[in-house]
Amino acid sequence: MKIAIYPGSFDPITKGHLDILKNAAGIFDKVIIAVAHNGEKKGFLSVNERVELIKQSVNGLENVEVDAFEGLTIEYAKKHGAEILIRGLRAVSDFEFEMQLSQTNSALCEDIKTVFLTTKPKYNFISSSTIREILNNNGDISKFVPEPVFEYLKNKGRE
Ligand code: ADP
Repeated sequence: MKIAIYPGSFDPITKGHLDILKNAAGIFDKVIIAVAHNGEKKGFLSVNERVELIKQSVNGLENVEVDAFEGLTIEYAKKHGAEILIRGLRAVSDFEFEMQLSQTNSALCEDIKTVFLTTKPKYNFISSSTIREILNNNGDISKFVPEPVFEYLKNKGRE
């Protein structure tokens, strides 16, 4: 059984993340999408909110689980019997950071491999940070995020 972990901040999950996740779910037996707690960075959404929105967005993907974790990704992967980490690549600008991250993980644990996936071109430019920026300026994010995220953030803005 090939288990893959798709780790990230997902603050919030976007259609780009979802496309990567669907591709991974088609390749591996089980994919765990896992929100990383980042102690240093105060997020836009809480980890619980992010997990809940991912759960609502992945409805229908039967071999996908949603979770959150703290600490090293490789330790989390080992604990779940996963040998694969999924990461997405958008542009050359992602490459340097992603390469360094995957090589660090592989130096820490050589059994764990990183697999890079790309999205459909129409989702390629989407990032959580630009979505937060659009929201801050009262712009329309409906094209960029799954429906449950759109509804949640629309209502959250009114609070
Ligand atoms: P990070 O883990 O660096 O905080 P994110 O949570 O935003 O990043 O994203 C998790 C992973 O998904 C990263 O590998 C990132 O490059 C990838 N990713 C995010 N958005 C897209 C997209 N639109 N197309 C392809 N990959 C993406």
